[in-house]
Amino acid sequence: MVVKDKLKTLYQLQQVDLKLDGLLEERGDLPAEVNELEKKIAVLKDQIKENDDYLKKAVVRKKEIDKELDDVRKRIDKYTEMRIKVKTNREYDALSKQIDNAKEKLQDLHKELEGIQAKESVSARDLEKLRQELEQESETYSSKKVELEELVSLTHDEEKRYIKEREKSAQKIDKQTLSRYEMIRKATKGKAIVPVVRRNACGGCYNVLPPQRLLDLRQMEKIFICDHCGRILVPNEIVEETSHDS
Ligand SMILES: [Zn+2]
Repeated sequence: MVVKDKLKTLYQLQQVDLKLDGLLEERGDLPAEVNELEKKIAVLKDQIKENDDYLKKAVVRKKEIDKELDDVRKRIDKYTEMRIKVKTNREYDALSKQIDNAKEKLQDLHKELEGIQAKESVSARDLEKLRQELEQESETYSSKKVELEELVSLTHDEEKRYIKEREKSAQKIDKQTLSRYEMIRKATKGKAIVPVVRRNACGGCYNVLPPQRLLDLRQMEKIFICDHCGRILVPNEIVEETSHDS
């Protein structure tokens, strides 16, 4: 493809991209808001699951502790009864030690139980708050999502047509030039290709172009960019011809 055709195709591509930008702009912040809400809801669900899991585990552990407490109490009763009947000091001391150990264990279990109960009530309170928050956010999300879908469907056909047009132009351009175009567009958040405007200035940054650059541009033997803003420069005839074509 000669440089002139390449520039023309690039310029056409940009015209379509600007139309697509316009469509996206009409949607405003809505897509970002919907996205943000999706993330927030996912985080809330994770937090709810975490608390839910803790509460379930707590119930199981509390049952275990109850059983352990029962066992330890029985053990203490048994040792105490045995101690009454012992004959030697050695046996008496040994059983006393067992009883002390069991009482210590009893204390530890009570402490653990209290810890679980305290954490449980915090968790239950958090869970309620999280569920309320989730309900609210889900409601906002649904209504915003519907709003966005309505907006998208309004311009759906138009968008599809532009995307097709875009593909047609993009296919004609070599990958390297295309990715360069896309990079500049991303960096400038708008136009990657600009004509020369009044007083021989770059149509992107309005800095005056050197006379040699203007001559080079008219030759159309290669693609030139503006030294100031990095945008691709096109001679005005490309702009005129392209607007003529479409
Ligand atoms: Zn410039």
